[in-house]
Amino acid sequence: MTTDFFSDFTMTVDGRAVTSAETIQTVNPATEAFIADVPDASREQLDAAVASAKRAFRSWWQRPLAERQAYVSKIGDAIEAHAEAFKRLLTLEQGKARQGAEWEIGGSIIWCREIAKQSLPAHVSENTPERTVETRNVPLGVIGAITPWNFPVLLAIWKIAPALVAGNTMVLKPSPYTPLCTLKLGEILRDVLPPGVLNVVSGGNDLGAWITAHPDISKISFTGSTATGRRIMAAASGNLKRITLELGGNDPAIVLPDVDVKETAQKLFWAAFQNSAQFCVAAKRMYIHEAIYDDLAAELVKYARTVKVGDGSQQGVDLGPIQNRMQFDKLRELLADAKASGAKFLLGGEIKAERGYFVPVTIVDNPAEDSRVVVEEAFGPVLPLLKFNDVEDVIERANQTEYGLAASVWGKDIDAAQAIAERIEAGTVWINEIHTFSPHVTFGGHKQSGMGIENALDGLAEYTNLQTIVTNRAPQPAA
Ligand code: NAD
Repeated sequence: MTTDFFSDFTMTVDGRAVTSAETIQTVNPATEAFIADVPDASREQLDAAVASAKRAFRSWWQRPLAERQAYVSKIGDAIEAHAEAFKRLLTLEQGKARQGAEWEIGGSIIWCREIAKQSLPAHVSENTPERTVETRNVPLGVIGAITPWNFPVLLAIWKIAPALVAGNTMVLKPSPYTPLCTLKLGEILRDVLPPGVLNVVSGGNDLGAWITAHPDISKISFTGSTATGRRIMAAASGNLKRITLELGGNDPAIVLPDVDVKETAQKLFWAAFQNSAQFCVAAKRMYIHEAIYDDLAAELVKYARTVKVGDGSQQGVDLGPIQNRMQFDKLRELLADAKASGAKFLLGGEIKAERGYFVPVTIVDNPAEDSRVVVEEAFGPVLPLLKFNDVEDVIERANQTEYGLAASVWGKDIDAAQAIAERIEAGTVWINEIHTFSPHVTFGGHKQSGMGIENALDGLAEYTNLQTIVTNRAPQPAA
């Protein structure tokens, strides 16, 4: 099948293309130009997708594990075969620059192939001639997967690959802001997977709520904001759905006085601004020791001036626009608040773009600890630099948040950095590097950054129930 990646966006239900009476418009965030209409699924269409996934589940989970693993690996092959088209479409709908699109599509291929190697061994707790007790992982059924707009392909793959390897089937809903790559993924996989194993439906937030409340869905795997995560947790209680929630963060970076200022400034820039800071694990509050604060701030600004912001499809652009008008308006309001409360901008702070959702790289000089630019997850390129001079104080401030997604510590004295890392309340703490993910390393938030784990065998296990089979082989007394 040859797929036109830039038109004819259809949902995938029971292995077939489905359109809908209602549609949603998609827009290129760099130009605000219309891209395409996509289906806005009705409740009946969702029911059909869930029914298809439920039917497919019966045979899918009875297939040998090696077969399911091979299918998931083939998803990686299918993405690879269309990699260039995916990268271009991803930049068009999401806005990210070429290098970001390469990272996301390349990562999606790797994830499929690596998760396809994973399995959960049964645990035998008793094994005698008379009796065995064996605990094994069994799939849950139909998974409802709901994804956000910052990494639409990779975050969908983080759900599809383990769910399918574990023996589940899926109904996947992308964000209404970035449905295009996900719909095309569903389309190319019609030739790869048995019908019903992966259904892709598009629609607005209502569709997400219907998925969450659907009685035939056994689990919700969600990546998005903490506010939506709370709603999902409440709505999922109807049939006691399992839930994995990967939510927001306000990650601190702690920079100790012994770092090499120039070299670290560059790493810290990308720690904060990668993907135009629309990154759940972006460094969102940067605590810098006062001994190096001025030098590091100056280096950060100097490096930031060399970074090109623009339309991600243009060569030489490093950072694209904000993905959508809603987030753009939120950032505009956040900047206005910072300005009104007397914040000092070392760089940026003023939105000038006439077309496209462009927010300049903005660095705020030591704002008050309780100001909105520090307390809130900006989810855009607005970074507060904060001074500290005492380790106890900075640990306290770093942990002073409802979030607990990730953090980073930067310093030459590894023991000192580790001692700090161990006291940070977050699911991942990087020391002298950041944003290194792996299909074999757990990822998940503490506190209100989420619930449960993605990736690694712990992530795979979240798509299963444990089942214990107790077998008594002792001779039965004659009747
Ligand atoms: P969002 O919560 O607004 O939307 C995410 C998805 O949920 C979308 O598909 C949306 O349509 C759907 N949705 C909205 N309301 C719903 C409801 N009531 N029931 C079910 N589904 C519903 O989040 P967003 O703005 O798309 O993404 C940004 C947020 O995601 C940020 O807070 C960011 O930190 C977080 N995020 C977290 C991770 C992580 O792994 N922890 C990764 C990426 C993004």
